[in-house]
Amino acid sequence: MTDHLTDEQITEALFNGARESAAAHLGDCEQCREELNRLCAVLTAARRQADADAARPHGFWHQQRLAIRERIWGTQTRGFLWAAATAALVLVAMLLSLTEPAREPLASNSDQGPATVSQAADSDHALLVEVERSVRRGVPRALEAATLIAQELQRATEARKEQRNP
Ligand SMILES: [Zn+2]
Repeated sequence: MTDHLTDEQITEALFNGARESAAAHLGDCEQCREELNRLCAVLTAARRQADADAARPHGFWHQQRLAIRERIWGTQTRGFLWAAATAALVLVAMLLSLTEPAREPLASNSDQGPATVSQAADSDHALLVEVERSVRRGVPRALEAATLIAQELQRATEARKEQRNP
């Protein structure tokens, strides 16, 4: 009576029915019978839960899928979209700053007739001022937009950190 059923014997009894010696022990030992009944109840509950999950309406699993996709999309892809949008903005800003200086003098020339000597001198002066400003700024004009975006992203990241650890 001191040798109770091993875990293997109880599992065997649970799934395949007790063998002769185990059945004899179960007939005599209340402790082992209770253990077997407890495991049997756990197994039945698990089976019932699985049946209930399988019987859930199709809409439930569809909602689950959507929720999971939203969570994955929210954490990973949003960051990728930000990077892509930033790269596109930088590209547009660079293209604009490359084409802008060429367009301005052409427009003023066609509006006011042929360029005079003073106008040419003015545009030279304006160009020099622009170059000087660019040198003082330290950041090339083409990258200014990128700097602004970087600052904006930095600010957003800091704000998010503050929200997490107030
Ligand atoms: Zn026992």
